[in-house]
Amino acid sequence: MKPDYQKIISNVYADILKKPNSGKVPNYIPEIACIEEHKFGVHFTDLGLNNFGCGNFQEKFSVQSISKVFALSFVYEKLGEKLWKRVDVEPSGNPFNSLLQLEADHGIPRNPFINAGALVICDILLEICENPKETLLEFIRDVAEDDEIFFNEKVAQSEMDHSYRNTAMCNFMKSFGNIHSKPNSVIDLYCHLCSIEMTCEQLSKSFLYLANGGRKPTDRRQILPYLKAKRINAILLTCGFYDESGEFSFLVGLPGKSGVGGGIIAILPQKYCIAVWSPKLNVKGNSYRGMKFLEEFTTQTGETIF
Ligand code: GLN
Repeated sequence: MKPDYQKIISNVYADILKKPNSGKVPNYIPEIACIEEHKFGVHFTDLGLNNFGCGNFQEKFSVQSISKVFALSFVYEKLGEKLWKRVDVEPSGNPFNSLLQLEADHGIPRNPFINAGALVICDILLEICENPKETLLEFIRDVAEDDEIFFNEKVAQSEMDHSYRNTAMCNFMKSFGNIHSKPNSVIDLYCHLCSIEMTCEQLSKSFLYLANGGRKPTDRRQILPYLKAKRINAILLTCGFYDESGEFSFLVGLPGKSGVGGGIIAILPQKYCIAVWSPKLNVKGNSYRGMKFLEEFTTQTGETIF
């Protein structure tokens, strides 16, 4: 029997609200450090286009690393398998901004979801698009079926002003020949990609193509071939939460992606997408309440990919 998603979401939401909200809002990007930390939103959409939201699900927030999934989808579709010569598909087991591993791996990032991997994806976007920022926005608006999605220029600037680590990684990869454009242009595009703002509702709807074998369930358009969607879901499962990917898989059991803005998107292939937003992060940089919510949600629905 199909679980009563709406009831489970409302109950789990109410339970989590009663418990302490641990963790910290990150302070290394000043523009997102000032976010109200009690915000908490959830939005669920299934392939039958049933929707359900709780709390601050219609409020925009900085999706940060979640948008790396859109950038990867676009680039993978255009480049095909040769993409994997420049970025690997292995879990990193290290923080998302680790420099250490890049040296051992000779400038080839472990996967497209750590910062170094997303910088390479941005470098490719600069090579293959005339106007990469516009192209990215168009792609996201297309999968979201919503034109009200924008970069937050203040957040992008704030991140650029403090992007010492990302710049170091970019320069380092350039020394190995794995960055082709000017590092400054790559950082500018990367910071804009991270600055995209969306609501939980927009997020859960926009990820449906990955729950549906690459095809949008609304107009049946194939955004990605099935094989590529399958592979992106695999990378989401093994790499979507950096050095907590094993833990997320262990506790929640779904492919997903987090961002330091406090958002998490999780996907149950063939069934649904669910987005959660709560800005306080655990020590690994993943939303504290987001993880708790999703753990309890999949436990109560009795459905995971396992
Ligand atoms: N913009 C953030 C950074 O580069 C993205 C990291 C994240 O969301 N995990 O550090």
